[in-house]
Amino acid sequence: MTSTVERKYVHVVAPGTAETTIEAASPPAPDAVVVDIRYCGICATDTHGYSSAALPPAVFGHEWTGTISAVGENVTTLRVGQRVVAGVGPACGVCAQCRAGHAAHCDLAFAEANGITDDAPVHGGFATTLTVSARRAIPVLDALSDEEAALMEPTTVTFHAVKRAAITLGSTVVVQGAGPIGLLTAQHARTAGAGRILVSEPSAARRTAATDLGFADVVEPADLAALLGEVTGGLGADVLFECTGVAALMQPSAELVRRGGTLALLGYPGTDSSVSYGDWQSRELTVIGSLAYSHEDFIGAMTLVAEGRIDLKSLHTGTIGLGELVGMFAELDSGTSRHAKVLVDPSR
Ligand SMILES: [Zn+2]
Ligand SMILES: [Zn+2]
Repeated sequence: MTSTVERKYVHVVAPGTAETTIEAASPPAPDAVVVDIRYCGICATDTHGYSSAALPPAVFGHEWTGTISAVGENVTTLRVGQRVVAGVGPACGVCAQCRAGHAAHCDLAFAEANGITDDAPVHGGFATTLTVSARRAIPVLDALSDEEAALMEPTTVTFHAVKRAAITLGSTVVVQGAGPIGLLTAQHARTAGAGRILVSEPSAARRTAATDLGFADVVEPADLAALLGEVTGGLGADVLFECTGVAALMQPSAELVRRGGTLALLGYPGTDSSVSYGDWQSRELTVIGSLAYSHEDFIGAMTLVAEGRIDLKSLHTGTIGLGELVGMFAELDSGTSRHAKVLVDPSR
C-alpha cells in the first residue's frame, strides 16, 4: 500500500554529474518503511559529495523528513501517516561494541549514520519517496513544524557534539565557523550553560546570522585571537568547537584552547593536517571527536527545539525543487552565498 506509484530521485553518478531517475515504486521489505519526502536539507557534505562522488549513495541527501506511506510486515513501532526524520536506530545489543558494553558506539548505528548497512537505500532524500529501515525513521514531536523537522538531522549532530564536550556552567566557548553547524553548535552551547560564546566566521552574511541569533561576540577570524585574549585574560578558550573542517586550522585552533581545555572537532577535514602533538600533550588538551549522533540524541534535540531553546526558523533561508538542486551546489560552494540551510521540496 503505497501512496505513490513511482518514485523520482536525484543521485550522483560521477564527480559533478547528477542524474534524475524515475522508477516504479515497490513495497517495503519486512523491516522497512516508505517515507514520502516532505523536505530534504542540503548539507556541505552533499555539496562536496556532488563534486567528488565519494559519498555512499544513501548519504547524498541525508537530512530528510516526511510522512510514512507504507510499512513492512515486521514493523510494529511505526504507522502510516506518522511524520518521521532521518536518524539511526537504537543500540542493537548484539554487535561487538554493544556486547563489550559500549552501546553508545554501536557498530550498527554507526554504519546506519554512514549509509553503509546492507539494507542502505540506493539513494538519499533528494527524492519523492525513500524506502528505509524502520530503525532509521524517528517520529517527530507534534510541536515541530515540517521545516523544523527538516533541520533535525544537523541539529542532532550538534546536540551530540555539545553533549560530548560536557561544557561546564559559565565556561568560555569559541565556535569556529558560522554555517548551519556552527550556528546550531553555538545555540546548544548557550543552552548548555556556556558563559561568553565567541563566534568566528569570514562571511559577513553568516556573521549577521550569528548576531541575529543573539550572539554578541561575532568576529572575523583575524580578530578572534585578540578578542579571546581580552575576554579570558590571555588564558584561551575552555572549549573550542571546530566547525569548518579546514584541515589547516587544526593546530591554530588548538592554540586558542587554554591549557587543560577542550578541542571539539565537528567539521570533517577532507585532507590530513600537520599538528603539534607535543603542544597538545604538554598542555593536556582534551580532544573530542564527534560524528553524527545516537538514536536518543534525537529525542533530546527535538525537545530543545519544541521548548523554544534552539531557533531553527532563522536558519532556513530557502526552498527549491529537485530540478534546482545541482545549480544550488555551486552557489553554496561559493563561500559568498546568503544561504544557511536550503531545503529541497520534491513536490515542487
Ligand atoms: Zn548533513
Ligand atoms: Zn550494537
